[in-house]
Amino acid sequence: MGVPLDSREEQAVEVIDRLEEAYPDSTISLDYSNRLELLVAVVLSAQCTDERVNGVTADLFETYRTPEDYARASEAELADAIYGITFHNNKAGYLKGIGRIVAEEHDGEVPDTMSALTDLPGVGRKTANVVLQHGHDIVEGIVVDTHVRRLSRRLGLTEEERPERIEADLLPVVPESKWQVFTHLLIDHGRATCTARNPDCSDCVLEDVCPSSKLDHDVDLASGESWD
Ligand code: SF4
Repeated sequence: MGVPLDSREEQAVEVIDRLEEAYPDSTISLDYSNRLELLVAVVLSAQCTDERVNGVTADLFETYRTPEDYARASEAELADAIYGITFHNNKAGYLKGIGRIVAEEHDGEVPDTMSALTDLPGVGRKTANVVLQHGHDIVEGIVVDTHVRRLSRRLGLTEEERPERIEADLLPVVPESKWQVFTHLLIDHGRATCTARNPDCSDCVLEDVCPSSKLDHDVDLASGESWD
């Protein structure tokens, strides 16, 4: 019986409560040990799985330890070092540019503001939010990736389609103290149960509050199309 709570605020709190119980250790799944590694890992993770990124960064971080290391390397060398990552040629250029700007304009330190971060090549608001949250303990927004987009729509928390509109729509609805964990909870549930193509509604802790539940709804609110 997928019936959402009366308001989006109540629905958000209920979703968070249940998912926190289901995924008590929910957090970022990229491997890193400092801010530069975090930034590099998040840039590499765009349209790529965290597992694949972690497989590549284990060696990459041994070789490239400072912003200058990335700035000095050729793009071909960097592309080779991150081979296997989606769009590795483009991302090699981003890493080189990031290394140069961080070294020359930020004294070698990863910046701690949204505007300075989004001035770096390959860094959009989503990447910047992750770096601010996990690198600097600054939570300015909600990271909206493909899982957060899909699940927020399925669960009736937003009807927006673009990540930045979804974020703006969610900010007044999700309690501020939960902005960071909200993302990780939805990612965990999106991977484990509420997958893109074949969500397992019959084994979902949110089934009775989900207006997209396949058990009694015809439409997947994420896509607006019928379940087949
Ligand atoms: S798995 Fe099904 S019931 Fe659970 S959140 Fe996803 S669409 Fe809703």
